[in-house]
Amino acid sequence: MTYDVTVIGGGPSGLMAAIAAAEHGARTLLLEKGKKLGKKLAISGGGRCNVTNRLPQDEVIKHIPGNGKFLYSAFSVFNNYDIIDFFENMGVGLKEEDHGRMFPKSNSAKTVVNALISKMEELNVEIRLTTSVEAIHYDENEHMVILKGAEKIQTKAIVIASGGKAVPHTGSTGDGYAWAKKAGHTITELYPTEVALTSNEDFIKDKSLQGLSLRNVSLTVLNKRNKPIISHQMDMIFTHFGVSGPAVLRCSQFVVKELMRGSEKVTMVLDALPEEKEEKLYQAIMKSTKENPKKAFKNVMKGLIPERLLSFILKQNHITDEEKCAHISKESIRTITHHIKNFTFNVNGSLPLEKAFVTGGGVSIKEIVPNTMQSKRMHGLYFCGEILDIHGYTGGYNITSALVTGRLAGMNAANESAD
Ligand SMILES: Cc1cc2nc3c(=O)[nH]c(=O)nc-3n(C[C@H](O)[C@H](O)[C@H](O)COP(=O)(O)OP(=O)(O)OC[C@H]3O[C@@H](n4cnc5c(N)ncnc54)[C@H](O)[C@@H]3O)c2cc1C
Repeated sequence: MTYDVTVIGGGPSGLMAAIAAAEHGARTLLLEKGKKLGKKLAISGGGRCNVTNRLPQDEVIKHIPGNGKFLYSAFSVFNNYDIIDFFENMGVGLKEEDHGRMFPKSNSAKTVVNALISKMEELNVEIRLTTSVEAIHYDENEHMVILKGAEKIQTKAIVIASGGKAVPHTGSTGDGYAWAKKAGHTITELYPTEVALTSNEDFIKDKSLQGLSLRNVSLTVLNKRNKPIISHQMDMIFTHFGVSGPAVLRCSQFVVKELMRGSEKVTMVLDALPEEKEEKLYQAIMKSTKENPKKAFKNVMKGLIPERLLSFILKQNHITDEEKCAHISKESIRTITHHIKNFTFNVNGSLPLEKAFVTGGGVSIKEIVPNTMQSKRMHGLYFCGEILDIHGYTGGYNITSALVTGRLAGMNAANESAD
């Protein structure tokens, strides 16, 4: 028997591809090596399944700094609002949370995964779990998928939806890159993105700030010439190895790329009070210092920024906890204000790809037709999801990319196999 479309991988991109292929009349097979479908999807968004984001399309694309623009033509066929309609039409009510993030009203990833499975069953997609693909033999008319155990599957079109290499215990172990290469595709360098960063600053090594979390701070990455590359205003945390938290994850790919270009370390600047102008802050501190000459300077500063960060900055400026305001010079206040607004530290690496949320790099988008997800190198071959050289911030952007590219890949694979 020959299938019209064989989808390899049961993540969000593969599930959507299988549904789209079957909706377009294809005899569809979905192969997943794990025991369950949508394992990574289920742990996204803190386990509640962050299915998409409801920001305007242009904003969504901006939040996909890894080749997001490639998705413009795909979005004109199926976009984030179509994803919302798609789930709501299947009876999965969605709700919006901070930064436009969309979650199932049930707060349960199971609702999303089960709806996708029911849809596939309704459309008679043949689903094979614990079925690992070992190789693909490409042929002139049809292709052959070889399973572990040597079983062979004949198919007119293949959708490779096997994901990247991040968090491999979910099943995404990077198997698909070899099949892409065999078809003549270029795999751009793989690297961790949305990942915690390491630092060998003394304050990290001696753990003086370990566990300190900062809310709504601004974090900036500088290039070699000390020019800002990117800033993100979100929360962050100092850890035993470096820094982590949402602002750090968003900045991480820019740091990793600088390191890949040969820099040994990258400078980051933390603004602990991004809403305050430095001069105004200086004047305010000067004023309270003058008004309270007999009080300890540290007590006057209390509440401005978290106490552990304050103590650290004061120590760096050789000011003891008891030092009275009357003894603090104008210059010290200037420097302290500057440090609150520009706390500068170096990072020298990241956690490995296995511990990153998302894989950077992948199948080069130059070799993919943007409005069909079809390979430009091989007939009857389509790619979707994280295996592509597309990566976004966490917040539903990668899942949006996976569902949109999956939709197009499945639909067009079905159309090609029907020709
Ligand atoms: C902890 C965590 C939190 C995240 N949070 C967010 C978030 O909030 N927002 C966001 O946008 N993104 C988030 N992501 C990223 C997002 O989950 C992924 O980008 C997305 O799941 C990629 O979908 P995919 O279908 O391309 O691949 P995957 O979801 O990785 O699925 C690939 C599937 O292919 C299967 N497979 C692989 N090799 C084979 C083989 N040889 N044979 C058969 N099957 C195979 C795997 O078992 C797997 O099921 C998060 C990721 C992690 C790890």
